[in-house]
Amino acid sequence: MHNDIYLSLGVSAEVYQYGEQVLSGLKARFETIDATAEYNQAKVVKAMQDNRVGAQCFAGTTGYGHDDIGRDTLEKVYASCFHTEAALVRPHITCGTHALAVALSANLLPGDELLSPVGKPYDTLEEVIGIRESACSLKEYGVTYRQVNLLPDGTFDYENIAKAVNEKTKLVTIQRSKGYQMRPSFSVAQIGELIAFIKKIKPSVTVMVDNCYGEFVEELEPSDVGADMMVGSLIKNPGGGLAPIGGYIAGTQKCIDRCAYRLSAPGVGQDVGASLSVMTNFYQGFFLSPNVVAGALKGAIFAAAVYEKLGFRVLPGPDEERHDIIQAIELGCAENMEAFCLGIQAAAPVDSYVTPVPSPIPGYDDEVIMAAGAFVQGSSIELSADGPIRPPYAVYYQGGLTWHHAKLGVLMSVQKLYEKGRISL
Ligand SMILES: *Cc1c(COP(=O)(O)O)cnc(C)c1O
Repeated sequence: MHNDIYLSLGVSAEVYQYGEQVLSGLKARFETIDATAEYNQAKVVKAMQDNRVGAQCFAGTTGYGHDDIGRDTLEKVYASCFHTEAALVRPHITCGTHALAVALSANLLPGDELLSPVGKPYDTLEEVIGIRESACSLKEYGVTYRQVNLLPDGTFDYENIAKAVNEKTKLVTIQRSKGYQMRPSFSVAQIGELIAFIKKIKPSVTVMVDNCYGEFVEELEPSDVGADMMVGSLIKNPGGGLAPIGGYIAGTQKCIDRCAYRLSAPGVGQDVGASLSVMTNFYQGFFLSPNVVAGALKGAIFAAAVYEKLGFRVLPGPDEERHDIIQAIELGCAENMEAFCLGIQAAAPVDSYVTPVPSPIPGYDDEVIMAAGAFVQGSSIELSADGPIRPPYAVYYQGGLTWHHAKLGVLMSVQKLYEKGRISL
């Protein structure tokens, strides 16, 4: 039966059997993931109940959006759930990069220094910071930047971090997820240790965590371990696949007030910003997110187990604990990346007939290949794979609104590599 339906989708019996064999060893891991999802589901429901979410929250507003109860309540729900004083959660935050740019530029002034103690930040932040020249970068506004790379084993270089903190250091940015790098993602506990270390040296420093791809992977979030701001994209985990746009910043009242002034206008802040008709999707997506994340995590672990067995280097390994939903797979050449992405695309419910090809993307330095057949365009909480065409030719696999769809995607990627004679089973 199962064989037949997979066969009709283009997954051969050999590939299906190979997958089943790998899967039989993953039962215990999947149970742990379900337990985390159960906890986080309860956490979200509690936040919604405590803030009296009702049908009136879904109506939406137009124009200025004064007294938008849906928007204001949703921001309280995020703050409750993530245990922060305040939150900014809006469709006017266009994506994760925008949310990060708002958080940084709102809380850094000319003469201040930004420190990244975890190596190079995500590609799109290079222009925000001015690591790559750009108009309107923080650098152009007189904010300097300092970076301390991770040690070769992927841990924090505490000695040099201590040296890098100086009288100008105002804000510290910590990226939880590996992004497009072959380095480990950090656990919330590790992030907490790093924050404590830095705040001991300089208590007045503001710490921001780029939490993209990390929400609901663990029971704790960076906001539980001392982050002043936690930032993410609604086109990823917390949107649950339903938010059609948006980003969030959750943190201290002081930081969020400044972010709101930067996002809209000084003096106006959070009071304006019509929510139009997206509120139901924002709420429902947040409600579903813990389970969507669980499905994505199962897919990532399955991908790691399959590709490790096929002889590729995978990060994290199938047995390692997860701190985000990203699975890096070093495929070794551009052709393998293209075959892998072709498989992910072929498994999609939308645009399955399209062939992904490498191309330039604004904000990224190298050509990037992306596979995504998504209901929300470019959404990477939906099944997707992407990566810059540069050594070590790693694809970053992520998402899947359901575990079973993620499974199909992984099988289909193997199928394409198999058909092209690039692997043997
Ligand atoms: C995706 C991502 C971003 C940027 O988010 P966009 O929504 O793509 O702009 C920033 N940091 C990390 C770690 C990410 O994964």
